[in-house]
Amino acid sequence: MTESIGKQVYSFGGGSAEGRSDQKELLGGKGAGLAEMSGLGLPVPPGFTITTEVCVRYHRDGGRYPDSLEAEFEAALAKVEALEGKKFGDPREPMLLSVRSGGPVSMPGMMDTVLNLGLNERIVEDWIGAGAEPRFARDCFRRLVAMYGDVVLGAPHDGFERALAAAREREGAASDSELSADALAAVTREFLDLIASRGRAPFPTDPRAQLWGAVQAVVESWNNRRAREYRRLHGLTEHSGTGVNVQTMVFGNRGPDCATGVAFTRDPATGERRVYGEYLRNAQGEDVVAGIRTPHSIAPTDGSPGLGGDFPEAYAELERICDVLERHRREMQDVEFTIEHGHLYMLQTRSGKRTGLAAVRIAVEMAAEGLIDRREALLRVEGEQLVQMLAPVFDPREKEAAIAAGALLARGLAAGPGAASGRIALTAERAEAMAAQGPVLLVRDETSPEDIVGMHASAGILTSRGGMTSHAAVVARGLGKPCIVGAGALAVDEAAGALRVGERVFREGDELSIDGTSGEVLAGALAPRSSEVLQAIVGGAADDSPPVVAFRRLVEWSDGERRMGVRANADTPHDARVARALGAQGIGLCRTEHMFFEEDRLPWMRQVILARDEAQRAAALARLRPVQQADFEGIFEAMDGLPVTVRLLDPPLHEFLPHGDKAVRQLAAQMGLEPEVVAAKAESLSEFNPMLGHRGCRLGLTTPEIYDMQVEAIVGAAGALAARGLSPRPEIMVPLVGTEEEMQRLRARAAAIVDRVLAEAGLELPIPIGTMIEVPRAALVADRIARHADFFSFGTNDLTQMTYGFSRDDVARFLPDYLEDGILPHDPFERLDRDGVGRLVEIACELGREARPDLKIGICGEHGGDPSSIEFFESCALDYVSCSPYRVPVARLAAARARLRSA
Ligand code: PEP
Ligand code: MG
Repeated sequence: MTESIGKQVYSFGGGSAEGRSDQKELLGGKGAGLAEMSGLGLPVPPGFTITTEVCVRYHRDGGRYPDSLEAEFEAALAKVEALEGKKFGDPREPMLLSVRSGGPVSMPGMMDTVLNLGLNERIVEDWIGAGAEPRFARDCFRRLVAMYGDVVLGAPHDGFERALAAAREREGAASDSELSADALAAVTREFLDLIASRGRAPFPTDPRAQLWGAVQAVVESWNNRRAREYRRLHGLTEHSGTGVNVQTMVFGNRGPDCATGVAFTRDPATGERRVYGEYLRNAQGEDVVAGIRTPHSIAPTDGSPGLGGDFPEAYAELERICDVLERHRREMQDVEFTIEHGHLYMLQTRSGKRTGLAAVRIAVEMAAEGLIDRREALLRVEGEQLVQMLAPVFDPREKEAAIAAGALLARGLAAGPGAASGRIALTAERAEAMAAQGPVLLVRDETSPEDIVGMHASAGILTSRGGMTSHAAVVARGLGKPCIVGAGALAVDEAAGALRVGERVFREGDELSIDGTSGEVLAGALAPRSSEVLQAIVGGAADDSPPVVAFRRLVEWSDGERRMGVRANADTPHDARVARALGAQGIGLCRTEHMFFEEDRLPWMRQVILARDEAQRAAALARLRPVQQADFEGIFEAMDGLPVTVRLLDPPLHEFLPHGDKAVRQLAAQMGLEPEVVAAKAESLSEFNPMLGHRGCRLGLTTPEIYDMQVEAIVGAAGALAARGLSPRPEIMVPLVGTEEEMQRLRARAAAIVDRVLAEAGLELPIPIGTMIEVPRAALVADRIARHADFFSFGTNDLTQMTYGFSRDDVARFLPDYLEDGILPHDPFERLDRDGVGRLVEIACELGREARPDLKIGICGEHGGDPSSIEFFESCALDYVSCSPYRVPVARLAAARARLRSA
């Protein structure tokens, strides 16, 4: 016995609907949108939606529909016929239907659609006999045969394309819309023959068989390879299914007073508030989306009339409807429409995909317009979208010079903002393979869902065909990749591995540059540089352009909502200034090792290591101390008034010694030592496993003079700045502690120096001394360590390494396989592993606070800039996260979102 299933078919049309907008899970996004528009009284052709549950059952039950589906389906079809006053399959006045997929989450272009169902050769002739315009009727039929042949019967799509191209050639037609009725009839016969020879079955002449065939193809398309791949890449669930929308056709291909198009209620690239989109006259929906013809802009910025000029009434109606939908849904919409003999019909509405820039601007401006509140605005922008606003651009002067020198190859539509340059690849497979050796631009006539992995691997995407809503454009925007589409001057010759632009020929591997913000394609590789927002915020350029204003507002609003502080990891004054400009509230990790690699210091550091006796070591340290102090003064000054956590030296000493005979001999000569002595020292310091070796506090305990010098330099720097009236707030952090004894000894020694140097300077300044928690043992005995630590800062890089036993240095040898095979869901060095590493973090917080309720706790591993990890740190009630300077805005937003979500 099959378990019972609820209502399976929901009708809409005629100003009402059985479904509701909040039933996306059950009806799919498209079905819920159609129900909603219909309920709002918007002009929606009537139809019905088969629920996602039917699809789930169908796949679960081995390709069988639930028993009662057919009866519900027939009843819904009869309702549509009554509303339309026409019958499906009627030869004289046929009602044609479309069948479209639509899951709970939109997967653009991934699943199948069949239009114009309900025709066969006899019906077409009868229809024409009853007065239908012959060219139109035959166009509908040839579209049906091609789509059905491709989608349902698996006949090769390019065969239809070739037959059409030959017909255009014979007739001297520039596009399909110029083909005569006779030519269309002839080409349709060729299509039918092609299906008979190459399809899984002949084309069904019975309209009902067509309809069920199309429904089945849509239901099955949920499980096709590209849909599964898309879900995998986007982390979407497999447990749902697609809805199937059966709807009466309206015709954008019924003559010059007809059109079809796609519109956004705001510009999806910039977020600007205006109806934005594209349309094609005398065409059907798939012509726009497939990118086969390059469509016209609805509201061109060059002053040409656009849709308002061609169809004034329909355009006014479209603007009104966009407004109604935005008010109702409180979100930017992406709508599909058709104009038949001047009348506008709505076929779809859904939340529109957008660039990071548009996401930020739309959220901020919708809040300003009162459509949503500030909190909602914050919840609508993902950290990665904010990152896109920091996407690189080309230096305008460099670009101008390149253009003056003849580098401009073509212009296309600016479909995804940002600048990218790289070697060109003409297939997705090549792009994937070449990406390992540096940035790649994927260049194609048009992209298809099969190309998705190659698109991921590419730095930018360029196509010769298609519009702003073509597959390439939509996918690139979602991925945040710079993208140009419809650059018609390019001719991609995939077979020859060549890209031709006029007389010029580029081979795979040659370099190009694309500016996805302006649509320019240039020869050669220009170097991308920082974004408008970065230039305004970090560079101090005066700029109150809408993107900069929106960016500033959003991060300021974040500050009003977040509980955790946001600091930066920075070890130079420049990085500290960048971090501060981007909103860092201090430095959570100032690594000191880089400071010893500079040319004027490395010899002294080597002297420390190779010293023959205490006196020589002391002399070398005495040389290092003032330069180290100067480093700290620069950083403390850049962060004046804000805390700066300085970590004492961490890496093993062999990193400072040269490798190879020649370098060893050179160093020995410089130091006045025998080469054997240097070689022996290098040998004695070499590590089997440096990450687990003689480093961090272990070094601090066995060679205490280095830490002593660093502590003196930190306190000395603070004293020098305080004397100048500034407010330094240093914190001293010990790395790699694993036992209480380590912490106790190091703290005592450091504290004594702090007290002495402060006393010498006649200064009172609280200087907290704390530790990183980056060894699993430290987390497990955190209560004991906390007795000697004023603060903890989780070093989640090392903590992840040591918890998994994965070396940070060579994890890349197997991690890609682990991710590919699903052995690990994510790279744990990127997104904190909550179950294991996160558990240690929780234990350490609990134990540490038990021992010392005022213990300050932060995190300074790479996870401090990752939104998902930040959400976890909020749940542990950490005091702050610390991340790389450019991630600071993301961390501010993520901390606010985490707080809002947990409330
Ligand atoms: C860490 O281990 O997380 C850390 C911040 O230190 P480092 O990356 O310098 O080892
Ligand atoms: Mg570490």
